[in-house]
Amino acid sequence: MVSPTLLASGGKRSPIRELSEYAAVQAAKIGRENVFDFSLGNPSTPPPPEVDRAILDIIQTEDPVSVHGYSSNIGMDSCRQAIAESCNRRFNRSLTKDNFMLVTGASTGLHIISVALNLSPDSEIIVIAPYFPGYRAAIQCGGNKMVVVPPDTEHFQIEFEALERAINANTQAVIINSPNNPSGTIYNEATIKRLAELLERKSREFGHAVYIICDEPYRELVYTEETVPYIPAYYRNTIVCYSYSKSLSLAGERVGYIMTDNDIDDFKDVWTALKGGAGIVANVCMPTLFQKVIERCVDVKPNIADYAYNRDLLLKEFKDIGYRFAEPRGAFYLFFQAPFGMTGMEFSELAKKYNVLVVPADGFGCPGWLRLSYCVSRSTVERALPLLRAIYQEAGAAAR
Ligand code: PLP
Repeated sequence: MVSPTLLASGGKRSPIRELSEYAAVQAAKIGRENVFDFSLGNPSTPPPPEVDRAILDIIQTEDPVSVHGYSSNIGMDSCRQAIAESCNRRFNRSLTKDNFMLVTGASTGLHIISVALNLSPDSEIIVIAPYFPGYRAAIQCGGNKMVVVPPDTEHFQIEFEALERAINANTQAVIINSPNNPSGTIYNEATIKRLAELLERKSREFGHAVYIICDEPYRELVYTEETVPYIPAYYRNTIVCYSYSKSLSLAGERVGYIMTDNDIDDFKDVWTALKGGAGIVANVCMPTLFQKVIERCVDVKPNIADYAYNRDLLLKEFKDIGYRFAEPRGAFYLFFQAPFGMTGMEFSELAKKYNVLVVPADGFGCPGWLRLSYCVSRSTVERALPLLRAIYQEAGAAAR
């Protein structure tokens, strides 16, 4: 016998994975270059050269036993201190290594935080649609209930009335993801200030902190002049979950961290519970080689030239064709509405006929919309443009 809950969730197919597997099958039949796979959020830009240089240097100069051995569960002091100093430089903070736990990617970080924040079977964690589908597993893994705030499909900020209605005495946290997967939008300063005011009021009302879990793997992928607000500077009770998967193109290496500042409510208890959570989800340690790499690369900037090129091209073309979409300001996704009243699934199926693979956003809490990941080569985007136009035209003709 096995867990019925896990039997149900393990048996569910992820539409993203399904599309990417379909892409592999199609590629074997018609050639990879003829399949326009916009399904996965896997970086298409190689890691910055500093990363490879660091790997080579570490391997050639350091003791292999320690490079490939375990580190302490929460990560090496020197790596955590380097990250703290980088955050202090960039966000004007006074953090030390003791504010950081290294984790095997943001996914693990979210699972750890969820486990740590579970007070009872009634505990709830709120997500704002559209949201990263991985939140569901992380929230449930902790024994919490996931509460969804419906999307603001006009500006892709936050529907505050709906958020306020969703918060109750069982609310432990709200997950904020900006720049956002899948909408590509950035929560502006006014939104973050309003969110902080609301959560401060609600924390007072219910007599306990309602935390913000600030999930920010895309912080460095920004295409406009704006600054992504650093949430701990606006709201004390923030737990940051960061990942180098996208910024340094290290998704397969599993590198990230959890951070809380000293002034978070119950700082010591939060850390003790986070350490307990790390044990439960088996975050034994982040790979030691990559701790050493991150230590040397904390201030390395990502190369976003290809993403910016793809984004600009798609934005121009989508405007011209007539698609309705969220203006992508960060991350590497274009989020658009299925035209002519189609469902996301209908549009995705139609696009498949053209070997264009885009993900229906039902699983992101935003039915009727789709996500196109433009972390692909420039030529993939260039050659897909006429197809995206033809798909729109065929959808329009069918609707008439
Ligand atoms: N959060 C968001 C919003 C993401 O898009 C992703 C990955 O796509 C993650 C978390 C997980 O990232 P990681 O690779 O660090 O586990």
